[in-house]
Amino acid sequence: MRCAILGDIHANLQALEAVLADAREYGCGEFYTLGDVVGYNANPAECLETVRALPGACILGNHDQAAADERPLRDFSPEATASIEWTRRQLNPEQKSWLASLRVQRQIRRITLVHATLDSPLSWGYIRTADDAAMSLACQSTPVCFIGHTHVPKAFAKGSGEILLFGNEGEGVQLPMDRKFLINAGSVGQPRDGDPRAAYMIYDEESSGLWLRRVEYDIRAAAAAVRAAGLPERLAERLQTGS
Ligand code: ZN
Repeated sequence: MRCAILGDIHANLQALEAVLADAREYGCGEFYTLGDVVGYNANPAECLETVRALPGACILGNHDQAAADERPLRDFSPEATASIEWTRRQLNPEQKSWLASLRVQRQIRRITLVHATLDSPLSWGYIRTADDAAMSLACQSTPVCFIGHTHVPKAFAKGSGEILLFGNEGEGVQLPMDRKFLINAGSVGQPRDGDPRAAYMIYDEESSGLWLRRVEYDIRAAAAAVRAAGLPERLAERLQTGS
């Protein structure tokens, strides 16, 4: 079974729909969502409904947690705060309770899903360096763990630090199953690695094949929706630069 790994959708419906079409074309039958379905962009309710109708699993992100309740916001940038306050007004109580019901981490067969880190998942720390990754890998019991949160696709292997998994665009890799991998699937709805195309991964559990996909989508429409919603201008601009 091929599954699509969807990180940080962030209420970007244009990106999500393009990614789902691409994933179905490549034969994905299950969809694992790495949290932050909402926040930043203009279609939180539509993205939430789309994700919860997918076969597969979804876990909790920090924006999902913040949007699901009314507590004062701490640890968020001014743009994130504005978008979460706006998102709270777009979701109905039933949608908020679905978000609040999401688990912070899940294990499905031999795959672990967590938004931030396995060593302290609700602290929402960022895995950027080999040292950050080593702490999470020490808590990982499956061969593969997929994470999101930084919006930058990246891979680490236990004992080897950061590794380069993908060479030329479109090429896949086969993960050797003799060591553990911690893999950031990048972001569907707000990429921050300088490539504005939507990012996601395809994983084939039987062959342990992994592909990083970059998908063109209607960025101008997504940015226009952000502006029409009255969300901060920076959130529209960053979609165009992938930053
Ligand atoms: Zn995020």
